[in-house]
Amino acid sequence: MAITDKIYVKNHRQLASQLETSFPKSAFSGATLDILFSGDGVAKLDEASRDRVLEFAEDFLDCDCQGHPHCGCPERKFVAYLLELRAQGLGPEAIVDVMGADYMLYAYPGDVLSFLDDSVRTLEAAERLADVDGRKEAGGRIGQRRRELSR
Ligand SMILES: [Zn+2]
Repeated sequence: MAITDKIYVKNHRQLASQLETSFPKSAFSGATLDILFSGDGVAKLDEASRDRVLEFAEDFLDCDCQGHPHCGCPERKFVAYLLELRAQGLGPEAIVDVMGADYMLYAYPGDVLSFLDDSVRTLEAAERLADVDGRKEAGGRIGQRRRELSR
């Protein structure tokens, strides 16, 4: 399962009751993207929640793809957001706190940790491949990125 399948909406029950409809707890479920993040219901939310929801839509659902918001861009952008927080030196628990403050989302720190470990391993493998192929510049770039994520 991708990390984006393990990102959940905080205060899910309250939001569903404000919207007077139900949607899955998982933030990147198709129905959640439709109902909570790109639906007309956002006006029914209390102000604090509305701000977070609009913020999320602005940051992750801003593409013009035909299949929007089911085109994969929101997930890709969110993964980049997580990696960026990690590159800034945040650990899994701090990352969970930040996504809560930014977008009213939560995840289990253990899931975030496995995701970060997997990302570093993927970069290590790519770095080795680049070395084997003699692609020094690519290897260097990947190594740099890996070090940002593993410090
Ligand atoms: Zn897109």
